[in-house]
Amino acid sequence: MDCIFCKIVAGEIPSVKVYEDDLVYAFMDISPINKGHVLVIPKEHHHSSSTVPEEIGGRMFHIGSRIGVALKRGLDFEGFNLHLADGTCAGQVVNHAHLHVVPRGVEDGFHWNWRQLEYAAGESAETAEKIKNKLKL
Ligand code: AMP
Ligand code: ZN
Repeated sequence: MDCIFCKIVAGEIPSVKVYEDDLVYAFMDISPINKGHVLVIPKEHHHSSSTVPEEIGGRMFHIGSRIGVALKRGLDFEGFNLHLADGTCAGQVVNHAHLHVVPRGVEDGFHWNWRQLEYAAGESAETAEKIKNKLKL
């Protein structure tokens, strides 16, 4: 399979490793938002986060959070973002699920382009019903 992150896990493409265990691999992002930006990936290939088994997804989140704490302690950051893009429209470029751990500082000059829409009366509940009707666990 022609997947750049599978090749990184296999050691066929070089990477700067931060952590590895039986389920996940963590390495330095080559084009960081802030220096220290790490990616946590499942060792097995999944295009979408939605097919990553619970145990592996849980490990990704756990290790991502622990790396976030290490970014604060080791690199003097004040916080971190965990970010996962699922789908091209969401900003996913590499088609192997990955969790970004982005170190953050108060004056790091980076801002999420976050907006806050408003619901009409009842619209939030109607929307929630549509989500709940399709939620398959
Ligand atoms: P996304 O846009 O969420 O798919 O993020 C893909 C990330 O992978 C980007 O932040 C890239 O900088 C990073 N990336 C791509 N190729 C490599 C590589 N060979 N080594 C490390 N990071 C990479
Ligand atoms: Zn892959």
